Amino acid sequence: MELDDFKTMNMEYVFNTYGRAPIMLVEGTGCRVRDSLGREYLDFVAGLAACPLGHGHPRLAAAIAEQAGKLIHVSNLFHIEPQILLAKLLTENSFANKAFFCNSGAEANEGAIKLARKYFHDRGQHERYHIVTMENSFHGRTLATLAATGQTKYRNGFEPHMPGFSHVPFGDLTALQNAVSERTAAVLIEPIQGEGGVRVPPDRYLAQVKELCNRMGCLLMFDEVQTGMGRTGKLFAYEHFDVEPDVMTLAKGIAGGVPMGALLATDEVAAAFVPGTHASTFGGNPLSCAAALAVVREILSDGFLEKVQRRGDYLRSKLEHLAERRDIIAEVRGVGLMQAIDLKVLGADFSIKMRDAGVLVNCTSETVLRFLPPLIVTEDEIDEMVAVLESILNTEGGA
Ligand code: PLP
Repeated sequence: MELDDFKTMNMEYVFNTYGRAPIMLVEGTGCRVRDSLGREYLDFVAGLAACPLGHGHPRLAAAIAEQAGKLIHVSNLFHIEPQILLAKLLTENSFANKAFFCNSGAEANEGAIKLARKYFHDRGQHERYHIVTMENSFHGRTLATLAATGQTKYRNGFEPHMPGFSHVPFGDLTALQNAVSERTAAVLIEPIQGEGGVRVPPDRYLAQVKELCNRMGCLLMFDEVQTGMGRTGKLFAYEHFDVEPDVMTLAKGIAGGVPMGALLATDEVAAAFVPGTHASTFGGNPLSCAAALAVVREILSDGFLEKVQRRGDYLRSKLEHLAERRDIIAEVRGVGLMQAIDLKVLGADFSIKMRDAGVLVNCTSETVLRFLPPLIVTEDEIDEMVAVLESILNTEGGA
């Protein structure tokens, strides 16, 4: 069958929920993917940050194949060896004492929202169920996480919204102070906003948020679905800010592209979930956990995160250098290998032109080109991406 046949079938048989690029990716190695016509692309999307080890990684592929040959799924009615080992690894390397596994970022955040409600319910504080989140945030597409998401464009049409959520500007401590009350169960926040345009908080902001949560007796929950798993050069982004949350959610990169989400919490908070309060058929199954174990071990291996930091600094300096020469770039933002340029014009056309030139990048928040390469990206690959970016900006007369 030809590509056009697949496009026609896609329109006929698949829900029309995505604005898809007119190509079909069929294989990949490292930071490169190939389409069904044999064209190669340098991948700075990495499955929307879900492929930290890139494509065709031998140890990840072997771990998945080995586990698939043994046991793919059993259900949480039984003990699951790779799930237990993964929970141990994640908690030993974070603030958390316990982990719960699910299948996506939205599901992890849904679990976090339930956990915060249950934690205060158990303490007799039944009115304490409100969650404060940030404007421009993104937490997922389920009804609760849509209500948490601080962008009306995603919520429109799905009214009535779940009650108990309010949104304040990211980085504005006074607004948060005014929003948090004795009815607030938790503040839910991305340490660095991703879909909202790669926005890094002001200095000390997250520490002040933590102090406020402590003072008001509510929980601090970090959504590290995008920032976690080494993306920023630390295993978790909160480590950059020296602030530990009570609850953290993960997904995207955790299992290298195999669907998985995770909810991590301190012992005290995790104790609010007991048998019967939360569950998932597939969550933490042997296959996804074997994949995640391979990914986390790789990220924690000697020198891996240091290299991510160096590559992140390199990408950043290249983008800053470009911004000095190209007036069309309003700002360069990001940490580690989560970087972006904010343009003075809409960005979608640039990402299409880059794709045509053989480089995949994502446009988010209308004017923002976001760079989320696999964490194994090399300096040469960064140079290649920046050269294409520069040539595309040149054609737009952006000097
Ligand atoms: N939270 C953040 C910060 C995200 O960036 C995303 C997805 O982009 C989600 C949650 C939702 O994750 P998923 O699409 O796996 O449900």
